[in-house]
Amino acid sequence: ETIQVSELAKMMGVKVSELIKKALQMGMPVTANQSIDADIAAILADEFGYQIERAPIEEEILLQYIPPSPEELKPRPPVITVMGHVDHGKTTLLDAIRKTDVASKEAGGITQHIGAYTVKLEDGRTLTFIDTPGHEAFTSMRARGAQVTDIVILVVAADDGVMEQTKEAIEHAKAAKVPIVVAINKIDKPEANPERVKSQLAELGLIPEEWGGDTLMANISARNKIGINELLELVLLQAEMLELKAAYDRPARGRIIESKLDKGRGPVATVLVQEGTLKEGDIFVAGLTYGRVRAMFDSYGKRVKEVTPSMPVEVLGFEELPQAGDDFIVLDSEEKAKKIAEYRQRKAREAETAKEAKISLEKLFEKLKEGELKELNIVLKADTQGTLEALQASLLKLSTDKVKVNIIRAGIGAISESDVMLASASNAIVIGFNVKPSSQARDLAKKERVDIKFYDVIYQLTDDVKKAMAGLLEPEI
Ligand code: GDP
Repeated sequence: ETIQVSELAKMMGVKVSELIKKALQMGMPVTANQSIDADIAAILADEFGYQIERAPIEEEILLQYIPPSPEELKPRPPVITVMGHVDHGKTTLLDAIRKTDVASKEAGGITQHIGAYTVKLEDGRTLTFIDTPGHEAFTSMRARGAQVTDIVILVVAADDGVMEQTKEAIEHAKAAKVPIVVAINKIDKPEANPERVKSQLAELGLIPEEWGGDTLMANISARNKIGINELLELVLLQAEMLELKAAYDRPARGRIIESKLDKGRGPVATVLVQEGTLKEGDIFVAGLTYGRVRAMFDSYGKRVKEVTPSMPVEVLGFEELPQAGDDFIVLDSEEKAKKIAEYRQRKAREAETAKEAKISLEKLFEKLKEGELKELNIVLKADTQGTLEALQASLLKLSTDKVKVNIIRAGIGAISESDVMLASASNAIVIGFNVKPSSQARDLAKKERVDIKFYDVIYQLTDDVKKAMAGLLEPEI
């Protein structure tokens, strides 16, 4: 974000020449037509008693959403999460369900773990399963405002019965208003007692149909693949009652299910399409990042060109790594996508800075407490979130039992005066990776005798830090 010097002068109602003079006095030679960045503009404006308020781009305007009309809606497959107490058979059930997939045979049977998979039944009906069992994923997604699950399969082992996490899973599903289909598992075991499980569940409000309730339940053995098809039938029946629908013929919207940094392919994420059709070449914003769909792969690793609602797909083409639970919205221009991502990043940074101040104070206390432990304090600034995370990880690995590497602040963007002040207060060095300080920060650093180092290659950075750590060590006798 930049502003022209002349424009800034006009906004404040001061003469351009006056502004230029002031800038020069402050050690910044500028010309009237020069564009200066917002940080510098803010400092100059401050000299004239003005405060710069950055106009937020109206995210909502750029993301304006017109809900589909009823005529646009067509049925879509259900999205299912498997929950239940540990060891009751969630993973085994997900495996067993996956093996019922007829499309898998066509695809050669080799499947990829992408965080979700779709099963096609003999008659062509499909169901999508979120591949991470348990309620952590379900809850953390919800905490991020993402509700991707239509139906929960609650697995209860017929020998163990209702346990702590069974109850928790019921609470989570109820809070999310997601219907539960019960799978009473391990019925092959001699000590299995499905009737006892039913009465335990009834006490918790899940009353089986045969007892006059409306909770669908199936007796299964996930390991021996007994009752799997019956269970899927019940799930589809439940789905029919929900009348799940979505518009297909519009730009896609969805959620990030999983993401990883792939060595060869860069940032890769699984997107669950919730509405519209996702196509190769589409431009999108996702959480704090954006990109263009370079290629898409389904859960068999097969390249696909188009993806419709309720389908999970691995997407290549993110600028940065998005996070599970992030939204994913297709837009009509890269400029828009970038703008929204930058706006969101700025918001996130602001929230982060507010947090950082507190953290650094705590760290200072920690330092006092730890006493004899030597540490190398670092204020780390980088150009992107991805680099920042990579740097943090490699720096923290350099800690030895003699010297501890302590990253007291890690942030994105230019090195600011506040970074320098923090470094000064905590005897830290400032490291800038692909970023530079503002001239004020540079001056302040000189005054405060704060060391600022710049890098654009990770190993050079880690090498230097290693050396710095060696310098901190007492000479060995
Ligand atoms: P999770 O923790 O809920 O994912 O449970 P797992 O799927 O890992 O299963 C826990 C254990 O129960 C494993 O040893 C499974 O082999 C076993 N198991 C799962 N389903 C069945 C079943 O239907 N019958 C029997 N006898 N054992 C099962």
